[in-house]
Amino acid sequence: MKDAITKKDFLQGILAAILAFAVLLGMEAIEHGLPERTSAPSAESLSVSADIEGDYRPGAYTASANGFGGPVEVTLTIGENGGITAADIVGSGETPDVGGAAIPELSAQLLSAQSAEIDGVSGASLTTGAVREAAAAALAEAAGLDVPSAPKAEDGNLFIPGTYTGSSKGFGGDVNVTLTVSENAMDALTIEGDHETENIGSFAVSMLGDRILDAQSPNIDALTGATVTSGAILRALQQALTEAGADLSAFPDAHVTELDSAEKPEETLETDIVIVGAGGAGMTAAIKATQAGKDVILLEKMPYAGGNTTKATGGMNAAETHYQKEQGIKDTVKQFIEDTITGGHNLNNPALVTVMAENSAKGIDWLDSIGAPLPKVSFSGGATNARIHSPEDGSGVGAYLVTAFLKKMDELNVNVMYDTKATSLIYENNAVTGVMAEGKTAKYAIHAKSVILTTGGFGSNEDMIVQYKPELKGTVKTGSPGATGDGIVMAEEVGAALVDIEQIQLHPTVEQNTSMLITEGVRGDGAILVNQSGKRFIDELLTRDVVSAAELEQEGGYAYLIFDQRLRDGLKATEKYISIGITTQADTIEELAEKLGMDPATLSETLSNWNRYVADKKDPDFGRDTGMEEDLSQAPYYAIKIAPGIHHTMGGVQIDTDAEVINTKGRPIPGLFAAGEVTGGVHGGNRIGGTAVTDIVVFGTIASESAVAYCDK
Ligand code: ADP
Repeated sequence: MKDAITKKDFLQGILAAILAFAVLLGMEAIEHGLPERTSAPSAESLSVSADIEGDYRPGAYTASANGFGGPVEVTLTIGENGGITAADIVGSGETPDVGGAAIPELSAQLLSAQSAEIDGVSGASLTTGAVREAAAAALAEAAGLDVPSAPKAEDGNLFIPGTYTGSSKGFGGDVNVTLTVSENAMDALTIEGDHETENIGSFAVSMLGDRILDAQSPNIDALTGATVTSGAILRALQQALTEAGADLSAFPDAHVTELDSAEKPEETLETDIVIVGAGGAGMTAAIKATQAGKDVILLEKMPYAGGNTTKATGGMNAAETHYQKEQGIKDTVKQFIEDTITGGHNLNNPALVTVMAENSAKGIDWLDSIGAPLPKVSFSGGATNARIHSPEDGSGVGAYLVTAFLKKMDELNVNVMYDTKATSLIYENNAVTGVMAEGKTAKYAIHAKSVILTTGGFGSNEDMIVQYKPELKGTVKTGSPGATGDGIVMAEEVGAALVDIEQIQLHPTVEQNTSMLITEGVRGDGAILVNQSGKRFIDELLTRDVVSAAELEQEGGYAYLIFDQRLRDGLKATEKYISIGITTQADTIEELAEKLGMDPATLSETLSNWNRYVADKKDPDFGRDTGMEEDLSQAPYYAIKIAPGIHHTMGGVQIDTDAEVINTKGRPIPGLFAAGEVTGGVHGGNRIGGTAVTDIVVFGTIASESAVAYCDK
């Protein structure tokens, strides 16, 4: 038994670690297609060989740990020979189609592994983590070990008053929570997850805290689309709650179960203006209309705001701005109009482009005024002059603006109804007078004086993509899940005309496994594209459609984006690409080429040529003349494999320069306004990088002003 005692001592030693790290175990759900990661301590260290007779005492041992939706209880039966003969798992809170479905498989794995060290089920990693942890605790008890006891609140109290912290791995790094509790309440909760900012995870960070405090329970729904961050927050919270002496099984279940549509009661609401869709255009309109003194209801079908706007990584095109002037950059509204129309293959509606360009500098001023300045001005594809305005620290413009808009809406007390989808427009006496909508537990008839559609595009709706551009069937999509064209369909139902609806943009730099869009800023700051032979094949900053088409002509239909450490240091967005593991890194160009399966001499020659072109400010190969301020010469070097993905839908509902929706007879539909990606005509046949943000800010403002004026009629 000497061997067994050693193992027991070892096991005993790590039990404290199990408790401390309990909620850290396991879960790294697959989000954006990322491979599952496992966290320390590994279940390996908990594995006790069951064939050492007497290690486990025969009997049934039960322990539980927190899974996705509450406690997961594992009962292990130890037979006479000391082996595991049955593994029963009960986890009623696990989502039926993910964690719940994984339970039989996890049980089988415990039996075949004869230990807590199981591979787990990918996609159900929170449930897997809980099963590993509970099984390890049950085995510890079976081995006759004392499990160190957790702190416990006094009888009759929920918590030991104090401030507690917890930490867990999120999408891009640690998520930390600080929880302050009194005897029977969670009083304050702060969540920090700096690395979650570049994706919708940042909204989980900003929204879940309130939901937890409102519910006074950790048993709340994860945010759809931000499950990794949500999971990290809930695990970190469970850690803090355990420290605070709470009984985790005693919290109320605050998951919201969606009722069947037929069972939802219908409520009637009244307001001045209903805005449908809380992306950039919708939030701009909501802020402006509220500031103009109107009652606003902003509907958002997702559990968080932001839409495709969140994903905008470049910046905002604007001409004749104070930042350009301060930085000595010469640019004109006229040139902005020309670039937009040339880039859009002359399909754009010139009146809309003119209004957008003329109001762009004012848009930049407005963003200054709400605490969202965009002072960094640089070149972007299709622009003659340095015109794209982005945040000082190089972070993605979309997440940055959405955070600022949300803060402003909070300040103004804008009524945002999340998880509430507009289903149709109310149309009476030839005018739009409201919106029908459906939430998780109720339906709403929302009567209003005017309605603004800001539902975004249809880039995530495969059926509509195939309907309007069949050749794009099955192409990787980069849009937010809410970009399903609902506004286009609802507007058509009341007679709206559509323009350029078949104009769908591919973005040239999309990492295909994760659908992660690599910002144009990487090329704007000096990166090049090479094919599998290690050769450049195009001026990297030509318009998106041209660069995408050129990539598709290369061997395999893909290319590599190559950049260096200097570029990484100057562009925060690159940190995300590196942290999620889509970047190949090497200390020399030759080593990078080897890692990419390319001829080192060819890639090396490509880079030395390129660096010479940068020094000469002349690219004799492809005539590139922008984004050549710095060469690529500072190791380490980086590569991201990319190909085109569906990005922006340029076409949509027809509007005039007052953002009134135009019907098929060419007349405005009274009461109905629209702005942003739901509309067509602004971008023509190809949107220039940086103009989506101009569109949402300028036309979000105009739609709001028109809707306000219509209310006052
Ligand atoms: P834009 O850039 O034009 O502002 P976004 O894609 O950023 O467009 O935002 C559009 C928003 O509208 C998204 O948050 C999306 O979830 C939301 N949305 C889309 N359809 C509906 C609908 N039927 N009801 C409520 N919200 C919707």
